[in-house]
Amino acid sequence: MVVIGGGPVGSYAAYKLAEMGYEVTVVEQKERLGGPVCCTGIISQECVSSFAIDDSVILRRVNSARLFSPSGRLLIWLCQGKTQACVVDRVTFDMAMVSRAQGKGVEYVLNSPVKGIEVGDNRVRVEAVRQGEGLNFEARAVVIANGFGSRLNEGLGLGKVGDFVVGVQAEVETMGVDEVEVYFGQEIAPGFFAWLVPTSPQRALLGLLTRRNPGLYLRKLMSSLLAQGKIASAEAEPCYRGIPLKPLPRTYGNRLVVVGDAAGQVKPTTGGGIYYGLLCADIAANNLHWALQSNDLSARSLANYERGWKRKLGQELRIGYWARRFYERLNDRQIDRIFDIMKSKGIDEALLKADDFSFDWHGKALLKLLGHRAVSKAIEAIKIPFR
Ligand SMILES: Cc1cc2nc3c(=O)[nH]c(=O)nc-3n(C[C@H](O)[C@H](O)[C@H](O)COP(=O)(O)OP(=O)(O)OC[C@H]3O[C@@H](n4cnc5c(N)ncnc54)[C@H](O)[C@@H]3O)c2cc1C
Repeated sequence: MVVIGGGPVGSYAAYKLAEMGYEVTVVEQKERLGGPVCCTGIISQECVSSFAIDDSVILRRVNSARLFSPSGRLLIWLCQGKTQACVVDRVTFDMAMVSRAQGKGVEYVLNSPVKGIEVGDNRVRVEAVRQGEGLNFEARAVVIANGFGSRLNEGLGLGKVGDFVVGVQAEVETMGVDEVEVYFGQEIAPGFFAWLVPTSPQRALLGLLTRRNPGLYLRKLMSSLLAQGKIASAEAEPCYRGIPLKPLPRTYGNRLVVVGDAAGQVKPTTGGGIYYGLLCADIAANNLHWALQSNDLSARSLANYERGWKRKLGQELRIGYWARRFYERLNDRQIDRIFDIMKSKGIDEALLKADDFSFDWHGKALLKLLGHRAVSKAIEAIKIPFR
């Protein structure tokens, strides 16, 4: 088996397949594993437990967050007693995933971007390039896990992810900020949100999502936080990366499956893709195993993978995307109004502090919010056309 991409999702799929007894090679374009990754690394406690994430990669646990409306109104999300989320160090997290896979015998071939995939009757040929030389791999099946913007999918007739946003982030020095802060507003991160996530007593990741001018909005946010005395300097080198908001039209074909960001398996509400990607890698590995056992690696057989992950995530992705598009149409005044209603009617308490609030599964909370009379009335009054 060949896995294309040695990110967390590719490494996890490789680990699972190797554990089932298959010989697995991961082909990775980077020269070395463990380089910097543009990611905040927040994952839920549910993800930590489900995938046995080791304590050693966790930088800190998150038990609360301060949510700021455009004009500075504050809502507090507070977990009752238990940790909801953790911030992992993405470099050590990725390396731990690699070690786990290597521990099961997975081989990593680095510095080898894959340029093409040729599906034959009995084998798949994966064509990579290493230091200017062609490098070919043959396998019974291939897992495509090469992250956002994969060109390989289009060439295979699987289409493109339906929508995306750009994430920008920089590491900053903080001054007395100890809790996660989230900022909403069209002047801060149009249509999306920005975050300040402390990783150690004096360091934090400052980032935002936006469809346009990410660098400009990050610089503006840095200046504003510097003026508020929350960060020590507005000089930091940002990184940028695309994040899919809608899945790939098709995530399987003859002898292949697509997982993780490459398949658009990301929460459209927040852009978080680690947990959903790992869940789908699990489903992909199980379906490949059944298909290999029955020696039927046809697209028809591997369609079960897509059915499986859609059963698990389909509704969440649909509701999340709907909510995302709705939010993008609100102006600052309307966002402030929703904050006011949530606070004055105690909806913040009922929703953000509820025992069943989940960091990963937002559909239920969104439907609960929309089902609240005061909110639905306000939404009607806002009169936003929604197509
Ligand atoms: C600013 C920002 C903040 C984020 N914060 C969070 C967060 O807090 N929590 C969360 O859950 N998610 C977050 N995400 C999203 C998260 O980073 C991704 O969902 C996650 O990395 C997806 O993992 P993956 O393995 O699918 O892809 P990737 O991590 O992108 O790994 C893909 C791998 O494939 C390799 N590759 C690419 N093309 C080829 C090729 N042609 N041949 C061989 N190898 C190739 C790449 O080098 C890479 O190693 C954030 C994203 C951004 C941009």
